[in-house]
Amino acid sequence: MGTRGFPVPYGDEKPVRIAAGRTQSMTTLAVMGDYHVHLHPHGPYTGKGPPPGQYPIDHIEAYFEAAHANGAEEVGFTEHLYRCIESKPVLGKWWMDDPRKDLREFTKSYVRSERVLSLERYVQAVVDAKDRGLPVKLGLEVDFFPQNVEAVVEFLAPYPFDYLIASTHWVGAWGIDLEEQEYEFERRGYRTAYEEYFALETDLARSGHFDVLAHADVVKKRGVFLDSEPLDLYEELAVAAARGGTAVEVSTAGLYQPAAEMYPSESLLERFFNHRVPITIASDAHVPEHCGRDMGKAIDLARSVGYTQRIEFTKRVGNLVPLEPGSSSL
Ligand SMILES: [Zn+2]
Ligand SMILES: [Zn+2]
Repeated sequence: MGTRGFPVPYGDEKPVRIAAGRTQSMTTLAVMGDYHVHLHPHGPYTGKGPPPGQYPIDHIEAYFEAAHANGAEEVGFTEHLYRCIESKPVLGKWWMDDPRKDLREFTKSYVRSERVLSLERYVQAVVDAKDRGLPVKLGLEVDFFPQNVEAVVEFLAPYPFDYLIASTHWVGAWGIDLEEQEYEFERRGYRTAYEEYFALETDLARSGHFDVLAHADVVKKRGVFLDSEPLDLYEELAVAAARGGTAVEVSTAGLYQPAAEMYPSESLLERFFNHRVPITIASDAHVPEHCGRDMGKAIDLARSVGYTQRIEFTKRVGNLVPLEPGSSSL
């Protein structure tokens, strides 16, 4: 259970809301960071970039070039654990307990086609980049499955991660953000689908096993929204994140999906802020040119609900730093 809490000042002081439009002078120079970045795109290899599981240094450097162009200095890589071949034994066949055969079969073949990366090589490549002096963080995007989370945490413990972000992409065998399984919203009922997603995400936030919630309301990714936002589910999630000591990312990735808005929504982010849950800034890039994309918009959203700080991580220890100015200065 979450006993880790947050570093000061969030633990001891209430964050101060700043008036809209007011700028804050920065006395500490903090390096802006994109904390959610992948080195390989999803889907079959197209010949663009290195083959799956290969991590040449020029590919990694290309991410930094894009990050710099977008106003970010630091890059935190967060490969998907489930896409790494080494994760097969520890993750197991999480889809098998689902009573729905169509969902099970799709997920089984989807995971088989996506599991083409190497955790060992990925970690080594990022550590090597760090040794070369690049401002890089070693992260990982870990899917949350209640039945194996303890084993997953134990499996990851020997690796030198700076931070772990965690996601709910699957509710049982249902890949909630996959176009191929979008029909499931209607079959299940929209409110029920949202409740099932948020129940898992809330357990994840409360678990205290991970440092950051990735795309906290990714259930909306396909553009499926409820008639009114589920503020009750938002509140429970924010409380759980505060109790679990789990930060949340402000991600621009949703702007490029049918949802056409950032994760989390403004209403959800407000609740995280009210419960003093720290934030990271994230693009969820899967190709170099998207690294650091639209970070100014993420910073503007965070500032609009009151944030003046973000959290950075080194070897799983969080540190609050000033949130840099938003889009006007990027
Ligand atoms: Zn994700
Ligand atoms: Zn991701």
